[in-house]
Amino acid sequence: MNKDAIVYFVGAGPGDPELITLKGKRLLEAADLVVYAGSLVPKAVLSHAQKAEIYDSAGLTLEEILALLVPAAKAGKMVVRLATGDPSIYGTIGEHSERLRAEGIRCEIVPGVSSFTAAAAALGRELTVPDVAQTVILSRCEGRTPVPDLEKLPLLAAHQTTLVLFLSITLVKKMQRDLLTSYAPETPCAVVYRATWPDEKIVHCALSDLSVAVKKSKITKTALVIVGKALASEGKRSKLYDPTFSHSFRSGKRLE
Ligand code: SAH
Repeated sequence: MNKDAIVYFVGAGPGDPELITLKGKRLLEAADLVVYAGSLVPKAVLSHAQKAEIYDSAGLTLEEILALLVPAAKAGKMVVRLATGDPSIYGTIGEHSERLRAEGIRCEIVPGVSSFTAAAAALGRELTVPDVAQTVILSRCEGRTPVPDLEKLPLLAAHQTTLVLFLSITLVKKMQRDLLTSYAPETPCAVVYRATWPDEKIVHCALSDLSVAVKKSKITKTALVIVGKALASEGKRSKLYDPTFSHSFRSGKRLE
């Protein structure tokens, strides 16, 4: 077996094929085997992998995926596991890498642009706004996949900061109920469907209208729900560019 056996976990970005890193593209160009995560990886990104055997993991179990990755990596082939967005967010890295390590195969992760940053860009918004929200919570609603007790949505909502919900669009009724336990009914929400794809769709609404707005939009998958006052804040100033604020790259000046 090749003692340098390695599998690269590469973030493919949110959809726009230009949003893969240069490193990710270079690894795809050199790849002999690529296993990619279903419909969320754009075909144009796969086209970088000109000389690779390519498999869609959507219909495969972890065992079947490993049956592709392990022998190829052991044979010294260049193997890429291509994830949507950034591999560190709901990217199943842990369960892959643990088993690969048990086979003596190293994993290297190449980050990607996550759908939540792409969605913020599509909205033209910053998710952190001075005095309004200095924390971003990334989470999901509990459905068939359980969520730890301390992360139940009403507990997260209590912070009333910017909240981004993945994998939860079909649970929007319960989501709205749980969020209303803390957020005001007029809190701005945005639903971003397929951020950066040609058919991207954005729905703006108040929290009190969230489930009705989602139903009307007919969005049932591949969407993020973003909630919080940061979505509507204007004119807040950070300390960073405040002329009276000193930091290591600039001394503060007293304004007359
Ligand atoms: N690792 C990915 C997330 C994978 S989980 C990332 O960093 O984005 C899959 C979920 O991500 C989807 O159900 C949806 O909630 C969200 N998602 C992925 N791509 C998206 C996109 N282009 N636009 C909106 N949501 C997206």
